[in-house]
Amino acid sequence: MNLYSSQISKLIEELSKLPGIGTKSAGRLAFHIINMPQEQVTQLADAITSAKANVKYCKCCYNLTDQEVCPICADEHRDHKTIMVVEGPRDLAAYEKTGKYQGVYHVLHGAISPMLGIGPNDIKLKELMLRLQQDVDEVIIATNSSLEGETTAMYISKLIKPTGIKVTRIASGVPVGGDLEYIDEMTLLRALDGRVIL
Ligand code: ZN
Repeated sequence: MNLYSSQISKLIEELSKLPGIGTKSAGRLAFHIINMPQEQVTQLADAITSAKANVKYCKCCYNLTDQEVCPICADEHRDHKTIMVVEGPRDLAAYEKTGKYQGVYHVLHGAISPMLGIGPNDIKLKELMLRLQQDVDEVIIATNSSLEGETTAMYISKLIKPTGIKVTRIASGVPVGGDLEYIDEMTLLRALDGRVIL
């Protein structure tokens, strides 16, 4: 028996495909949306559609942006000779929230995982090596402290070392397996300050 109209069922089904949204939450959201003023619903739908259509990778650091070059890479006041390597845009956001890091980033969009069949060519690693042909003082590897993050860090450091560029790894104050985005700012800053040379 279809409890609701098929349109509502469809909405619930689509919402429940989102991460962290179970059928119950999807139902709650669906009814909330139905009860929202038409204008708000249109704004929400437009925001989703235009974000998807216009957001792309920054051609320099591969952060998500709606411009050719993201605001961080475009900022002349930042230290472009220090590159922090992170797994995803949310890790970058976590460090940006501290407001203390003055360098730039490189977003890998993943981590090396032999178990999942994700190799070095599946993440933005070639792109990082290409950037290192410019004048770079330090590469800070801030991948997660999970097995995949550590594997990736090791791989990158081996790759960079022959170039003579200083490679550092954020300190292990970050809980094992911890996603950077859930770690508080103090812990992030401690991890950054306590980084070690690889
Ligand atoms: Zn950028």
